[in-house]
Amino acid sequence: MTSTSRPPGRNLRYDNVGDGVVPVVNIATPVFDAQGDRKGVLLLSLDWQYLTAGLHHAMSIDEAAQPLLVDAQGTWLLADQDGAMHFGRHVATEFPDIWEVLSRRTRGQADLGGQRILFQLEDIRTQNYHSQAGKVHSLPGYHPWRLGIMFPKPTLGSLLSQDLAPLLVMALLYGLCIVFGMFWALSSYRQRFLKQQAQQYATEVRDLYEHAPCGYHSLDADGRIVKMNRTELDWLGYRADEVIGQAHYRDFVTRETRDAFEAAFQEVQGQNQEGSTECELITRDGGRLPVVIQATAYTTRHGFVHSRAMVFDLRERKQLEDTLARQAMTDPLTGLGNRRYLQGQAAMEIARAKRSGQPLSLIAIDLDHFKHINDEYGHDVGDSVLQAFANQASKLLREGDVLCRMGGEEFAVLLPSTSSAQAMQVAERLRNVLETSPVEVSHEVTEDGWLPYTASLGVTLVMAEEASLKPAIKRADRGLYAAKEQGRNRVHWQAV
Ligand code: GH3
Ligand code: MG
Ligand code: MG
Repeated sequence: MTSTSRPPGRNLRYDNVGDGVVPVVNIATPVFDAQGDRKGVLLLSLDWQYLTAGLHHAMSIDEAAQPLLVDAQGTWLLADQDGAMHFGRHVATEFPDIWEVLSRRTRGQADLGGQRILFQLEDIRTQNYHSQAGKVHSLPGYHPWRLGIMFPKPTLGSLLSQDLAPLLVMALLYGLCIVFGMFWALSSYRQRFLKQQAQQYATEVRDLYEHAPCGYHSLDADGRIVKMNRTELDWLGYRADEVIGQAHYRDFVTRETRDAFEAAFQEVQGQNQEGSTECELITRDGGRLPVVIQATAYTTRHGFVHSRAMVFDLRERKQLEDTLARQAMTDPLTGLGNRRYLQGQAAMEIARAKRSGQPLSLIAIDLDHFKHINDEYGHDVGDSVLQAFANQASKLLREGDVLCRMGGEEFAVLLPSTSSAQAMQVAERLRNVLETSPVEVSHEVTEDGWLPYTASLGVTLVMAEEASLKPAIKRADRGLYAAKEQGRNRVHWQAV
């Protein structure tokens, strides 16, 4: 027999029933007839397990437990030999605390001092009992019984001394719950962390896309803008909602560079799936923005979806190119254009003269005895003379005249819409101004602080049939040498 089926209390005993042993409890209860007259005492042996089937834990309490069986009036019903209570004693008066708990509820548990009571109501009012005394009636009000067990409050030690299996199972379940809870907390924390990190990356990528130092855009097969970053929108001067899904990119390309753009866009949609071009964009305020566009195609197995392009602002590069080009055509000492500049200008002026039929004249100028100036006063003074000449000549010439330094102390002037006679006048005026405008130098250089100088000039016409300036330069130089030979500080006309 296991401890779980052992009945509590020493007043219980075991009956052999069939093959098994049944724990029974002996009960004595007063009985009454139909008129309510007390007829005697009924002695019963009840199957303890059956009786306590609904009483939790009752079957697992050891022998230290005391059974309780009390009738409706609080009379003790158990025939106990040596316990504190004996049959017929009144629980209600002797143990009011216990009676207080038992009488209030139909089932439950309560702690009294160091004791715990488990109890329930056994309602047997409607039952009739048959005994050797004949038919016995149970009186309403006498039954039900209050059935219970009282045992020392379990301690940890007592719990451990019992079967450990349920405890271990509970501990295991607890442990599993804690481990699972920690795992869940950790994994949800990690998920939150990863999600946060992914959001942060997404924000960074979006920020990089929007504010990249270059423009980004995507175009559908028609060239309609499906995406454009902040940088390019700012360049163009439009808001996203005015452009994305609304405009075609070619609308922002200048007419002059539109063909180049279309050709590159076709390349992107073709076999190569990439294309690039330089073109000019028109900004909202009408400005022009030189850019280079490099695009690739985004395709799926269904074909072209859209183009993805990077756009680089060429303004700085163009400015640098312009500066370099200007520097390459400028004489640093005088700030005048150089021989290359004259060639470029001459090509335009010759073409224009051909169209207009206007004469085009050329003057070659060489400062006289310049070597002597250098030798006598030093190279710096020579430089000052060159600068002074550039100043004087520029002031005297018209806006459209092209004055250049050909090299050393040699200069040339191209005079559009100027006849040979007018050119001779200009040359003569120039010679005169130079002769009468000495260069201001320090008194250490010359006594009076002025340095006079002169120039010789050769004048010629650029002929309508001449494709370049070369022959005219040769002629003007011949005129110049003639002027030198004739004594310098003079103008010589050189006919064709
Ligand atoms: P001519 O009257 O026959 O022209 O005699 P010139 O001395 O002027 O002619 P030449 O060709 O003999 O001398 C030109 C001098 O110009 C020689 C050269 O050192 C000087 N020269 C050339 N370029 C510069 C320059 O940038 N600065 C200075 N200070 N001198 C220069
Ligand atoms: Mg010379
Ligand atoms: Mg000279």
